[in-house]
Amino acid sequence: MSIRILSEQLVHQIAAGEVIERPASVVKELLENSLDAGARRVEIEIEEGGVRLCRVRDDGCGIERDELLLALTRHATSKIATIADLEAVGTLGFRGEALPSIASVSRMRLVSRSASMANGHAVTAENGTFTDPIPAPHPQGTTVEVRDLFFNVPARRKFLRSERTESQHLVRTVERLALSRFDVAWTLMAGRRRLADYPAADSESERTDRIGRVLGEDFAASALYVEHQGAGCALAGWLGLPTHARAQADMQYLYLNGRMVRDRLLAAAIRQAYDDVLYHGRQPAYVLFLAMDPARVDVNAHPAKLEVRFREPRQVRDFIFHSVSRALEATRPRVLGGGVDGAGAMRASGPIARDFWPARGAGQNDLGLGVAEAQMEPWRAPAANRTVGSGASTPVAESASAPLGHAIAQLHGVYILTQTATGLILVDMHAAHERTTYERMKAALREAESIPAQQLLVPAMVTLSATDAELAEQHAEMLAKAGLEIARSGPTGVAVRAVPAWLPAADHATLLRDVLADLRDTGTSRRTEEAIEQVLGTMACHGAVRANRQLTIPEMDALLREMERSVRSDQCVHGRPTWAFVSMAELDRLFLRGR
Ligand code: ADP
Ligand code: MG
Repeated sequence: MSIRILSEQLVHQIAAGEVIERPASVVKELLENSLDAGARRVEIEIEEGGVRLCRVRDDGCGIERDELLLALTRHATSKIATIADLEAVGTLGFRGEALPSIASVSRMRLVSRSASMANGHAVTAENGTFTDPIPAPHPQGTTVEVRDLFFNVPARRKFLRSERTESQHLVRTVERLALSRFDVAWTLMAGRRRLADYPAADSESERTDRIGRVLGEDFAASALYVEHQGAGCALAGWLGLPTHARAQADMQYLYLNGRMVRDRLLAAAIRQAYDDVLYHGRQPAYVLFLAMDPARVDVNAHPAKLEVRFREPRQVRDFIFHSVSRALEATRPRVLGGGVDGAGAMRASGPIARDFWPARGAGQNDLGLGVAEAQMEPWRAPAANRTVGSGASTPVAESASAPLGHAIAQLHGVYILTQTATGLILVDMHAAHERTTYERMKAALREAESIPAQQLLVPAMVTLSATDAELAEQHAEMLAKAGLEIARSGPTGVAVRAVPAWLPAADHATLLRDVLADLRDTGTSRRTEEAIEQVLGTMACHGAVRANRQLTIPEMDALLREMERSVRSDQCVHGRPTWAFVSMAELDRLFLRGR
């Protein structure tokens, strides 16, 4: 075949292949144009899952009559003009490709009226043929109608799924965009059916409401609010509690300068911050907004602009990691004052979170985070014993110095029972002790570069496999930092010379074997700090009180007070809750003690 220049229409269709996959991608592009045009209200209508019709109407700035056809021309954009503009681009679009691409694979009608015009005008496009603008009534703003998607690209049409599936994709697209702009009102209609409806959310409670509609009420009621600035970046948003984690990464919303991104570097930084409080393989839920100078990030790395490139990836990663870690430290028992929170209500939210939820409605769960979330987990107690309805709180304020109350007994050698001003708390003693020991060790490590160790009078000789002995020798320096001093004493022998001061009673041989097993599993790929944390976790588990160990009341109280001081103490190191609260009201209900 001889070389020839492709027709304009075919060029557009090829470009469409990159970004227009299904009705949801059409709507995403149209909605981004509406946002770039300054719209405050966007209405979307669809028919047959968007395949027959996608119509997006906005109240943005509109398009001048003489520019209507230009908008359908490839590489025509009002958003950038120079390379400098591109490098600092703040709009969602800039490639000038979406409208011509969509027009080449559908029947399109574009109606618009700008502020300077007395009435609107319409143009149409079909199979590369365009009509000149004709007057058409329209308020200020723009409507784009896309009919019969892929009618002229049969191969693409075959990949479209059922009406239901395509509609779900459309709903997800609108949800993602709705979280990026709380100030904009959104509706999505399929005939008379309202698939999505988000009124403009200007107040905190309206924003919480929108978050709840997209991520669920539980998430909205319990999430930690984070707000942090540094390294030229600002991060704000909601972090799901560790106990709210999911099997899939399907509730992770991350926005960079208002644009939803799916960036591996950032997602990994967030996941890592959760490492300490999450089960292996569980995925956190979050809605986070990262803002930074647009010149420090390249959004032109991907046609759909989902992936981005940072100029200083390391700096951004560390900023995200530290902001999220710090916020998660706030998951510990606390007492809130009276007022709107309800007297004596306990929650583990940090100070910002408290300010951020000023109007929690009656009937919402007002317990500590670990408890509220535990309701969704398999290890929960029967739900009836957990829920707290409105009016559950009593006017007695909890002693601010002892939110976890005072120990009254130990149950089956596993749980500590405590009495609080408003009810009963159950503490999983091993899980709680494990967490507090772990946090204490980490704090010591941060301060002194190593965990205080206690020398053994007689070194304990441990026999290992040759590979394990090798591994131990290899990691001797790191283990010494963690308070475990060892020396190789033959091909299969290792002498334990000192153990962490907090675990003098531990079984040295088992401790060393467990630590080595961890190192074997995680390999040497992890950074030293991570390896040490892992080792500390194993040690904390060894050092923590075992089931059936009788504790005295002062010992139990000491553990409660330590939990209150310790960061992250709402969850054990595996992400399970460490304590649960049952209110007097619930107990009364159990015994049918009415008012
Ligand atoms: P891009 O968004 O990359 O500029 P598009 O092909 O999506 O490219 O849109 C082309 C141009 O049409 C935009 O730059 C903008 O000037 C105009 N336009 C598109 N949609 C709208 C809208 N809803 N309101 C106002 N102007 C619009
Ligand atoms: Mg665009």
